[in-house]
Amino acid sequence: MYVIKCDSCGFVLYKGADPKTVEAVLRLWGGVCPKCMSPLERRPIKIAVGLLKERKAG
Ligand SMILES: [Zn+2]
Repeated sequence: MYVIKCDSCGFVLYKGADPKTVEAVLRLWGGVCPKCMSPLERRPIKIAVGLLKERKAG
């Protein structure tokens, strides 16, 4: 699971199984955070990658 959040307010800009480049995500929002309106191009945004582990019953 890939999660890209705004570095300023923590708004989730993208969350999904497919890896997306930062530039692609910036294009989705027009280069600014829709929540705090801070320019995403200037500020580095955090990319958290969590590994989904399947539980096996046993
Ligand atoms: Zn923000």
